[in-house]
Amino acid sequence: MKRAAATIAAAEAARLPIMLSELRLPTIKRLWVDLAEQSNREGWPAERFLGALLTHEMAERETRRLARTRAESQLPPGKGLSEFDFAAVASVSKARIMALAEADSWIAQGHNLLAFGPPGVGKTHLLAGVGHALVDRGYKVLFTRTSDLVQRLQAARRDLRLPAELAKLDRFDLLILDDLSYVRRDQAETSVLFELIAERYERKSIAITANAPFSAWDEVFPDKAMTLAAVDRLVHHATILEMNVDSYRRRAALPAIRQRSATQPSTPDRTAQDSVASK
Ligand code: ADP
Ligand code: MG
Repeated sequence: MKRAAATIAAAEAARLPIMLSELRLPTIKRLWVDLAEQSNREGWPAERFLGALLTHEMAERETRRLARTRAESQLPPGKGLSEFDFAAVASVSKARIMALAEADSWIAQGHNLLAFGPPGVGKTHLLAGVGHALVDRGYKVLFTRTSDLVQRLQAARRDLRLPAELAKLDRFDLLILDDLSYVRRDQAETSVLFELIAERYERKSIAITANAPFSAWDEVFPDKAMTLAAVDRLVHHATILEMNVDSYRRRAALPAIRQRSATQPSTPDRTAQDSVASK
């Protein structure tokens, strides 16, 4: 009798890996033998055994999903908010950034985030940090150099598939366009960047880093009217971070300079987060 039961159990067990593969439950497939042993040994009720298996599967599924979203985001690794030294940029309020990182409501409303300042002040790091925090919360983010994206959109336009390419970008809750002011003059001859901005306006968020203030963006768009229209849409609902401090790298290399600028904030008149109010 007992032997017959054992034979049946063994046959069941042999089928399990196949069924678990078929159902795409790799974690249960990996763990069930150990958990079944523990369950038998400790006399778990069936509910507990089943619950334990499913909990593990769900947790690992979430971990895999996050890893996939992070890889897809192309965010630079190691540039999280926990690695960002807020003391180095007096004009940026940590509380404000942390609120953005929690996605309060700006992502849902398609509001924007703009960071301005000279090279090396941490614009890319700061926005990447916000991006990483949003990925942690399950949002889809894409980080790209602006000129790379413009190139991609221009190729799409040439092949008459710009709308499809723009639609592909729509699944990202936040696009981080790094170094907008580095778009080259010849790239600016098409309006693809403007079309991207217009397409996402009031629907999906864009974050931008730029060395040059708006006044110099004529280089980036085909003509003045389009520059104005782009700026208008970008700032309509936006948080603007002015990061006019010394280069972080330079200060890190020269502790004496760092000390001096810590006691004398370099931007007394342009305060942080001129959050541009809705018109
Ligand atoms: P930007 O985009 O303004 O040119 P980056 O974000 O590329 O500057 O920063 C330059 C380097 O200095 C990066 O390695 C970045 O991680 C580091 N960095 C800049 N600001 C900070 C900061 N406040 N805390 C920590 N690291 C910083
Ligand atoms: Mg940068």
